Amino acid sequence: MTEQLLSTPTLESLYTSGVYAKRDLTIVRGEGALLYDDQGNEYIDCVGGQGAANFGHAHPVIAAAIAAQAQTLISCPEMFYNPIRAELLARLIEIAPPGINRTFLCNSGTEAVEAAFKFAKYDTGRTGIVAAMRGFHGRTMGALSATWNKKYREPFEPLVPGVTHIPYHNLEKLDAAITDQTAAVILEVVQGEGGVYPASAEFLLGAQNLCRERGALLIIDEVQTGIGRTGKMLALEHFGLQPDLITIAKSLGGGIPIGAVLIGERVGELSPGIHGSTFGGNPLSAAAGVAALQVIKQENLIENAARQGVYLLARLQEIDSPLIREVRGLGLMIGIEIKQKVAPYLSALTERGVLALSAGMTVIRLLPPLVISEAQADRVVEAVEDVLKDES
Ligand code: PMP
Repeated sequence: MTEQLLSTPTLESLYTSGVYAKRDLTIVRGEGALLYDDQGNEYIDCVGGQGAANFGHAHPVIAAAIAAQAQTLISCPEMFYNPIRAELLARLIEIAPPGINRTFLCNSGTEAVEAAFKFAKYDTGRTGIVAAMRGFHGRTMGALSATWNKKYREPFEPLVPGVTHIPYHNLEKLDAAITDQTAAVILEVVQGEGGVYPASAEFLLGAQNLCRERGALLIIDEVQTGIGRTGKMLALEHFGLQPDLITIAKSLGGGIPIGAVLIGERVGELSPGIHGSTFGGNPLSAAAGVAALQVIKQENLIENAARQGVYLLARLQEIDSPLIREVRGLGLMIGIEIKQKVAPYLSALTERGVLALSAGMTVIRLLPPLVISEAQADRVVEAVEDVLKDES
């Protein structure tokens, strides 16, 4: 009874695990690229569900598909066939690069990475994984072993053995790290959590060549860059990469939890029972995924992400502030590196109606829904300019 008298933040704080740093904001509703708090204040959402809200909030086509599927069938384990899952699998092959011929479905980014590691180890009979410094691949034990940031890793050591880290963009070090025991190399196309660092074509294509020469598999982690975020359906298209395993998640389910591993032809047969998931391939997330892939095409959202991304990046790069070290990004994945810790600037942006993320201590990260308009992008630039000028 007393619970009804408590505010949402008080009630949440009372019973939540404590593992999340909270902002003092109660979000109750969204529409397109906008979010609304419980006081009716409007925000441009550059948090974008941490990359899960690429299609905007409350998209009517996706909402209708979820509702219709919920009234038809939600649970259907992969021991049975199901038509909407079959359709999603077919749509995923359509968006994948040449050579991808199968997909494993799961429920999150970290699960997709775990599955990719297991498939690589199973297929090659090797145990090693090479990852990059600054990389982020998730927080479960296998994926965490490949994640670089000490803050996430150290409290949980010992982690999975056999993982080594090389500096991003250093092919020589990568060459030296790949041994005859390396099952896979895992890389992001743009390092997201690590600070929004786009890769060079030379590094990614060089990594692909090294993997092929040495019998290791290349895993490209598109959990954050995938599904239109960088102005291509998959960011690897910028470079013509053809990896052996691709992890995707976040926005693929139009906001419903989903993950997937796209599997290439260099990976041999995967036997029944070597991996699985109760919720993997569930009809609800499959229906949401099919609707999301339909929306992205029909509404030309990839083109909009490319256009607004170029526009937003250029306008942010024009801001003249001594606080800014660098503005970088690809498509609608943008990082503003400043010379101070970002926390107070994120609060100042919130006061000006823009919600943004951090990436590490000194990078303001913008991941707006791909439906963002130029006028909304202008409002973001004005808020950033105002906030970074105030303190200069
Ligand atoms: N890989 C990358 C590149 C990510 O950015 C993330 C999440 N930020 C993950 C994996 C983990 O995804 P999830 O939070 O869905 O487990």
